[in-house]
Amino acid sequence: MASTTPLAGQTALVTGASRGIGKAIALHLAQAGAEVVVNYASSSAAAAAVVAEISAAGGKAYAHRANVGNEEEVGGLIKAVLEHSGSIDVLINNAGITRDGLLMRMNTEDWQAVIDLNLSGVFLCTRAVARPMLRQKRGRIVNITSVVGLMGNAGQANYAAAKAGVIGLTRSTAREFASRGITVNAVAPGFIITDMTRDLDLKPILAAIPLARLGSADQVAGAVRFLAADPAAAYITGQVLQVDGGMVMG
Ligand code: NAP
Repeated sequence: MASTTPLAGQTALVTGASRGIGKAIALHLAQAGAEVVVNYASSSAAAAAVVAEISAAGGKAYAHRANVGNEEEVGGLIKAVLEHSGSIDVLINNAGITRDGLLMRMNTEDWQAVIDLNLSGVFLCTRAVARPMLRQKRGRIVNITSVVGLMGNAGQANYAAAKAGVIGLTRSTAREFASRGITVNAVAPGFIITDMTRDLDLKPILAAIPLARLGSADQVAGAVRFLAADPAAAYITGQVLQVDGGMVMG
């Protein structure tokens, strides 16, 4: 029978884990036995509440603030986690933002802010964990992309470009790290109920989803937990797992 705590003894770093999908991932990985590092950018009270929820359920977690779009802060985050926990076995690149607008009116700041966090942030965190993971010849990396990176979306050229970039980054890293026992996969949520989707006009969105409803953060976290766990997902790498109610097929 499969273990209910396949991540026991492992440390999992989840970026952007104070709210939404990242919070759900943190709770799921803690339930799977991992010690979880709850990264956040500014919501310190929310991050502390995630840590408290994990501790109350008998799990292990601590919070660490860092802007994962900033090279120096990423370096500080990874160093602190290695000092505190001794290893990073699972990295979930989840932190992300939107700065929507039609391309013709999109200013360079909004383009760059989304690329800096949603794409370069994934690169910076992956590069920073590469050496310790390669040395220990074991690791799981899961990047949170989006179906928008597969299909494009009017008003989200910056976000779609970053998320498509994450898919190319995932596949390239998967090829580079495979021989060292490290898998790298992406999870592509469709429309999920979080702060990010709170103000969307749902009518046209629901019409495009075969399952005719938005997904939950828990449903995304379940897919991430599967990809992070051994031995169930040990032979899966370079893949994009969609959690989108059937919105994008083929
Ligand atoms: P959310 O509710 O807005 O939460 C975003 C999280 O990212 C927060 O924990 C936030 O921390 C953190 N964050 C923001 N900027 C950061 C930075 N510079 N450094 C570190 N952390 C930072 O977002 P979500 O909906 O859960 O989305 C999570 C991921 O799923 C994103 O990559 C998003 O693109 C992707 N996704 C979401 C959907 C959806 O429908 N919601 C669909 C597809 C993909 P603070 O609380 O400190 O600000």
